[in-house]
Amino acid sequence: MWSLLLQLLVSSSPVVSYGPCTYPNSCWPSASAWSSLNRTLQGGLVRSRPPAAPCHDDFLNVTACDEVKQNWLHEFWRSEQPGAYQDLAWENGDSYCNINNPQNQTCSQGLVPIYMAQVKSTADVQAAVVFARDHGLSTRVKGAAHDYLGRSSGNGTFGIQTTKLSGIEFDDSFKPTGAGRNTLAQTAVHVAAGEHWYYVNKAASEHGVVVVSGASYSVGAAGGWILGGGHSSLSPQYGLGVDNVLQFEIVTPDGKLRTVNQFQNKDLFWALRGGGHGFGVVTTVTYKTHPAITAISAIFINATFTNPSYHGFLMTALTLQPTMAAHNFSGYMYPYPTNFLGLLFVHNSADLAGANATLQPLYDFAASETSQGRPAQVQMLSYVLTDYTQIFPEDPSTISEPGIGVSSILGSRLAPVTAFEGERAETMANFIENTPGTTILHLVSGGQVSTVAEDATAVHPSWRRATHHIVISAGWDTTTPLAFRDVIRQQLTNKTQELAALVPGFGSYNNEADYNEPNWKEAFWGSNYPRLKSIKATIDPRGLFTCHHCVGDE
Ligand SMILES: Cc1cc2nc3c(=O)[nH]c(=O)nc-3n(C[C@H](O)[C@H](O)[C@H](O)COP(=O)(O)OP(=O)(O)OC[C@H]3O[C@@H](n4cnc5c(N)ncnc54)[C@H](O)[C@@H]3O)c2cc1C
Repeated sequence: MWSLLLQLLVSSSPVVSYGPCTYPNSCWPSASAWSSLNRTLQGGLVRSRPPAAPCHDDFLNVTACDEVKQNWLHEFWRSEQPGAYQDLAWENGDSYCNINNPQNQTCSQGLVPIYMAQVKSTADVQAAVVFARDHGLSTRVKGAAHDYLGRSSGNGTFGIQTTKLSGIEFDDSFKPTGAGRNTLAQTAVHVAAGEHWYYVNKAASEHGVVVVSGASYSVGAAGGWILGGGHSSLSPQYGLGVDNVLQFEIVTPDGKLRTVNQFQNKDLFWALRGGGHGFGVVTTVTYKTHPAITAISAIFINATFTNPSYHGFLMTALTLQPTMAAHNFSGYMYPYPTNFLGLLFVHNSADLAGANATLQPLYDFAASETSQGRPAQVQMLSYVLTDYTQIFPEDPSTISEPGIGVSSILGSRLAPVTAFEGERAETMANFIENTPGTTILHLVSGGQVSTVAEDATAVHPSWRRATHHIVISAGWDTTTPLAFRDVIRQQLTNKTQELAALVPGFGSYNNEADYNEPNWKEAFWGSNYPRLKSIKATIDPRGLFTCHHCVGDE
């Protein structure tokens, strides 16, 4: 009975595939057409499969399987593999091909594109896009493969993998192509689509500058992060990623390489800054650079308490948010029932004493709880970092970030500082306490982000009014029955909508959002959506690059 129910659920699961032509339909190109593309790409076309395929009978290769097992949780390795994704939910879908499954179990294709063009140059990108155009293929772009909404994979699709497009070049007097004589040159860095933030930050440090970058060192530096908006602990000081882009190079669905900036292809420049998944293959992003940061007050908090103190501790932390925002804090906070973690920064400041004074209510609360017989303490490590790269690990090859090689899903809302004031703080605390899974409070907006006009870029206008980005999460493992996964997904969607009701008028950051967000156009882009849709119709009229809840996925 149980297995019959599971089978029914499998067969009724929605097939994740968009765009005109998918495998195995008759429109799918012949073997000789694929061979021809492979010759053009000089052997760069791969019949892609889930990475655990060599551990299963149909594709068994013991040596390759050992390598897969060793690297299973390693994000840079996953990024390089043609068939691997960081989040297994978007590699396998609901049919797992896992290193721990029995060897004789079938390893199905899952959501991994059928063929992956591993492009090494702009000419390769153009050849792959022209091939997709001529055959009308449903096409996915795969960068560092960190997506939370499955937008770089898809059942029966053709993939273009950018990780072999490398290059980080500094330019101390950059002027966008087409700029007039009077345009002032500025310092910039050209980042190729295959680069990860870790290496860009390192290179920037060596060059004596800073680039606004994501918190994760393995997220793509010129891929999904920037196309969706790109938040950073540096954002309150220097704006979102999209506020720091000077130029894109992109191969659009017609196969043309276009230089896109505020002087030419202006509509596309606007769209790529926040609504940009599904407009083609970006090959290079040029970012502004900022003078090196030589002092960061970095405070790592681990507050521990007994469960009865949870509500009080949470309330103290939440009501402190407006003060923290006003004192130029940024960072990430994780409220759990028995502890509260905070990775907090005040950039361009060596005033550790001042930063600690701002956090005094947390220490006072812990002392008061302890004195009343409920042991609580705030352990705190604080440093003045002298270089932005010190935020990141020294040797990423030895570390695996949380969330890699597992299945996790998110829901989110942006929030203004007023969401933590007065009675609203109590409501927010109750919401967090009653939400299963990890909640993350990102203090990554406000400040400089709020000085940009709501329609200046394509990101949801409420980014310009928000101080926080609140993320809730859920997940499952390979043993969780399909029916339970659906329950977990539904629960996350319900909770996300509950969160939305607490911050009316505020959107969801499309890169860290609920796959099943009901009013996704409004939630991800708000009043910017109609313009985005019309630009998409012009650039990609046949929907080659359509993906789930990307612009045009009506
Ligand atoms: C551990 C972790 C930490 C994160 N931290 C942050 C953070 O600090 N700040 C933040 O803002 N976000 C963060 N994110 C979210 C992140 O921005 C998104 O997951 C983003 O989509 C990842 O982009 P990617 O290129 O790495 O992934 P991919 O899965 O390769 O791509 C994501 C999307 O971008 C498209 N894409 C990728 N490259 C190109 C290209 N060259 N041209 C056209 N389209 C392309 C893909 O088709 C897909 O739609 C984090 C995610 C994870 C998993």
